[in-house]
Amino acid sequence: MKIGVLAIQGDFAEHIVMLKRLGVETAEVRLPPHLDGLDGLIVPGGESTTIGKLSVDFGLLEPLREFGKTHAIWGTCAGAIFLSRDARRSQPLLGIMDITVERNAFGRQVDSFEADLVIPDLGEGRPYHAIFIRAPIIESVQGLARVISTLPDGRIVAARQGKLLATSFHPELTQDTRFHQYFLSFAK
Ligand code: GLN
Repeated sequence: MKIGVLAIQGDFAEHIVMLKRLGVETAEVRLPPHLDGLDGLIVPGGESTTIGKLSVDFGLLEPLREFGKTHAIWGTCAGAIFLSRDARRSQPLLGIMDITVERNAFGRQVDSFEADLVIPDLGEGRPYHAIFIRAPIIESVQGLARVISTLPDGRIVAARQGKLLATSFHPELTQDTRFHQYFLSFAK
């Protein structure tokens, strides 16, 4: 099992640490050939406009879209925005997930927060402690996308569409490996 992490901006290093803890081979993806031989890809948190613009500059947009037709891709926070079909403003997106997102939906950096989530796909057990940093909300899911988790008030913070996964929050900033294991379970 070999998982790539898009390593052009954002907290890709934290995802790589997490994957290594789970005994997975990793690769930093900066150019299209780096996708060869991967079983899946993670797009980290960071700044979605920057990730989008640099993906255009490095010729990654089309190769990433092709990769996502047959492989697992997980976007965390900015990565989730990058996967979405609609971010309600003009910026380069992969546009491969049938979700509409609202960026910075909870306000500014100081409005970052943590919350315990119920995530049935992770199985029975303790709630998942999620970290939100200038996070987007998934306003709506369409087509084949389905909701994986919501906040207590019903706002959507995780969605899945086949092998595509989007989370508003940052599992790579916790010690809890369950979300990465969940991704690996369908990246195979
Ligand atoms: N606010 C960022 C954006 O809109 C996302 C923040 C994050 O990834 N933690 O791209």
